Amino acid sequence: MSVLMEIQNLSKHFSVESNFFGKSSSLLKAVDDVSFTIHKGEAFGLVGESGCGKTTLGKIIVNLYSPTKGSMIFEGKDLTKLKENQRRAYCKDMQMIFQDPYASLNPRMTVGDIIAEPIVINKLLPANKVEERVTYLLNCVGLAQHQRNRYPHEFSGGQRQRVGIARALAVEPKLIVCDEPVSALDVSIQAQVLNLLADLKDEFGLTYLFIAHGLNVVKHISDRVGVMYLGKLVEIAPKKELYANPLHPYTQALLSAIPIIDPEKKKQRIILEGDVPSPINPPAGCRFCSRCFKEMPVCKETAPELKEISPGHWVACHLFD
Ligand code: SF4
Repeated sequence: MSVLMEIQNLSKHFSVESNFFGKSSSLLKAVDDVSFTIHKGEAFGLVGESGCGKTTLGKIIVNLYSPTKGSMIFEGKDLTKLKENQRRAYCKDMQMIFQDPYASLNPRMTVGDIIAEPIVINKLLPANKVEERVTYLLNCVGLAQHQRNRYPHEFSGGQRQRVGIARALAVEPKLIVCDEPVSALDVSIQAQVLNLLADLKDEFGLTYLFIAHGLNVVKHISDRVGVMYLGKLVEIAPKKELYANPLHPYTQALLSAIPIIDPEKKKQRIILEGDVPSPINPPAGCRFCSRCFKEMPVCKETAPELKEISPGHWVACHLFD
């Protein structure tokens, strides 16, 4: 698979706590020196607890945030080096499906107009072809043409997420960032939306960055998985490898939290002690050291680097130095 996007040493720091003179005194390192690649046609799952920086990373990719430093090479061009108007030309290639489908849809527009809007703004089709495309997109996501003139509040949560997916597809993007697209939905609906996303990926040859807080959600859809903790990527591996042979203690803890349906199989749940530290004042050394059950003296002093331990399997942990 060829590389679609290469993220290199990407960081996003927010200034917080202004002092008396209006100068910020602290930095919140939401994303800190993150590097990975997304291949054309793959679904890259990005997993971590709330506040680990995964949504911030997704928002940088779709140009909702500017990175503090680092680069994003998309089809050979470093997007971070482009002027804002040049970068905007690439925006249609990268779309986002949001966690809360209701908040992401304009309540005053019909769903047909919501789907048509990006087609019209980007002048992708002559005016007399737009409706045909809207009908096609509604069908693609399992909605009927007669629902075109309804408003978002007339739909269920799952249907609203289908509208959000149709809107993202409308501009024929090359990369879709799916930001926890099923976490706000009923469990019974989650599988339907996940299946729809998987089918659309195959049908349109889409590339996904699929963000979720649990490894159980991304298991179904991802080809490779990256695990984030406190602004850093701590492990990346092909899906099968990661689930069969998790190396980072944090990944092991996340995997142990997935319930097993088979009563014959038993597994030891790893309970992590303490809370996730503040990204304003993260631990020196390994960021996971305050909660790690395999911590060693070196972990408190030196931050481990993300290293390739076996082909395609990367981990940031001193256990593998
Ligand atoms: Fe645990 Fe040390 Fe590895 Fe960090 S570097 S995950 S503290 S063993």
